[in-house]
Amino acid sequence: QFAKPGGDTIFGKIIRKEIPANFIYEDDQCVAFHDVAPQAPVHFLVVPRKPIIRLASVEEPDEGVLGHMLVVVKKVAKMLGLINGYRVVINDGPDGGQSVYHIHMHVLGQRQLGWPPG
Ligand code: 5GP
Repeated sequence: QFAKPGGDTIFGKIIRKEIPANFIYEDDQCVAFHDVAPQAPVHFLVVPRKPIIRLASVEEPDEGVLGHMLVVVKKVAKMLGLINGYRVVINDGPDGGQSVYHIHMHVLGQRQLGWPPG
C-alpha cells in the first residue's frame, strides 16, 4: 500500500529525514518531534515508524508499538520538564480532527488546558 517505508504522508517524509523537523527523541519503533503549529508552550508528537493510518485501522499486532509510544510520551515529557502534567491526544478521522493520516499522539503541556476541549 505504501511506496516507501514510513508511508507517504508528511510524517513519512519527516521520519525518512526528507524534510526537516525539530526532533526530540528517536528509537527503532518511533520518533518524537515538536509540532510545527504548537497549541501549547510545549506541543510535541510521537509517531511510529510504521505508517499505521489512524486509530481506527489499528490491529492487534500494533499493541506493542502503541504501548511503547505511551512510554515514550512519558520519557519525553519528563525530559522536557513537564512536571505539572500534560495532555495526550489521538485525533481519529474526520470527526476527530485528524489531518495527517499516519497515526500520532499529541502531547500538550506547560499551560492549563480546558475540558471539554471543544
Ligand atoms: P492531526 O490534526 O492529524 O491530529 O495532527 C497533525 C499535526 O501535525 C498538527 O498539529 C500539525 O500542526 C502537525 N504538522 C503538520 N505538518 C507538519 C510538519 O510538516 N512538521 C511538523 N513538525 N508538524 C506538522
